[in-house]
Amino acid sequence: MSTPVMDKTRRLEVNKAGSKMISDYWDGVFNARERGDQVVWYNGQALNPIFQAAGLVWCHGEAFSARLAAQHLEVPAQQAGEEYGYLGELCSYSRTHLGCAVLTQKSRQGEATGIVGMPEQEQLASKLPAPDFFVNAYSGCSTGQQWDDISFRVFGKELPMFNVSLPFLWGNKPDSGYLVGEEWEQTSLHVEDQLYKLIDFIEHQTGRPFDWDALRQNMAYIKRASELRREAMALCALTPAPATFWDWISSIAHINFLPASQELVDFFAAVKAEVERRVAEGISGVQNERYRLYFDGIMNWNKLGWLAKKFAAHDVAVIAGRYTHHAFWQEPHMIDPENPIPGMAKHYLLCPTNHGTKTIQNLVLGDCEKYGVDGIVFHSTRTCRAFTNPQQLVAKAAQRDLGIPSIFFEGDVADASFYKDEILESRLVAMLEGIDSRRSRDVTG
Ligand code: SF4
Repeated sequence: MSTPVMDKTRRLEVNKAGSKMISDYWDGVFNARERGDQVVWYNGQALNPIFQAAGLVWCHGEAFSARLAAQHLEVPAQQAGEEYGYLGELCSYSRTHLGCAVLTQKSRQGEATGIVGMPEQEQLASKLPAPDFFVNAYSGCSTGQQWDDISFRVFGKELPMFNVSLPFLWGNKPDSGYLVGEEWEQTSLHVEDQLYKLIDFIEHQTGRPFDWDALRQNMAYIKRASELRREAMALCALTPAPATFWDWISSIAHINFLPASQELVDFFAAVKAEVERRVAEGISGVQNERYRLYFDGIMNWNKLGWLAKKFAAHDVAVIAGRYTHHAFWQEPHMIDPENPIPGMAKHYLLCPTNHGTKTIQNLVLGDCEKYGVDGIVFHSTRTCRAFTNPQQLVAKAAQRDLGIPSIFFEGDVADASFYKDEILESRLVAMLEGIDSRRSRDVTG
């Protein structure tokens, strides 16, 4: 039984308008066939500005799985995936999306699914328009890199697929580091080259010349939106924090895959304006902030609202995280709208699972200092090993180098059955007690 929590969160108001933008986007995807649009299914990095410039409708597999999980509608898709033969230990993003592929393929062929009950949920999971082709651009995870290969099989090996290979940044040469070194420069060029080939492939699929002016315009919008997002995030180093990690989670869809547009820029301008207003008025993202924590791990989409309330109930402001702060066009200075491909290639390598442990440690510990956190909570994501791999080492480094304690809790990206509330509750309480006793020692000693 999960512990009930009272709501001490103060989520940004702008998120309500943001939710509508997300729903409108998905409605546009669901209606793509009625408009006669071509559809691409893709996984991994944010290739959407390229698809948008090519006049395609794009469906990001992880995003749709996350959306189903956040709406608690993922089960029929996961059952369809299980019927097809995918184990429960397979990444729940891919398991859900492959289940959607099975349902979409069956509905396309007018077949019944064999899954009983929950007809409306099943209908939503099968609502995705079947793809015209696939593009995979997954970094830092072998499951992600094979995901579209399996989707290709579900659709009878009939649809074309393009794979962008994004090598892992080991970071173990003497000159290696975040955004610097020969490995970084050479790997970026390798990805650039593939992006030009991807655009050739898309021209072939659409039968139209690629619109480079549209791509430049898209990247100008994204650069500005990202700058505003990063500026608003930086204001949360203030105490108390005017917004929290959960607010940045709520706007991930926008920066990750919504259309590049003036509306997107206006949305992040409104986010920043609300954060600034809160700073001026002394309004915090959590009532009575007493503790500040960092969140390491990919999101538990089934429990987003639940976790926001749980931490706030303990007077904890979760300030920042590896998932929100080290992905999604997070280095806007690298985007040159006039010559967009190099900056795009570099960003596609910057997934927070695509670095060696030394770089991850530097990024996480740097954030811990910047945001003045008291501790780290690690979401030990059951089916996403890519994120959990370095966590024990990062926890040790935080304790050793900064004296910052950590806890781990179990959960998953899109499978609610792995979440263990009692474990999080007891470990969180113990860590907060430890922080209290350290503070009282600091005062008296
Ligand atoms: S295991 Fe993690 S990184 Fe890999 S595909 Fe799944 S969610 Fe993505």
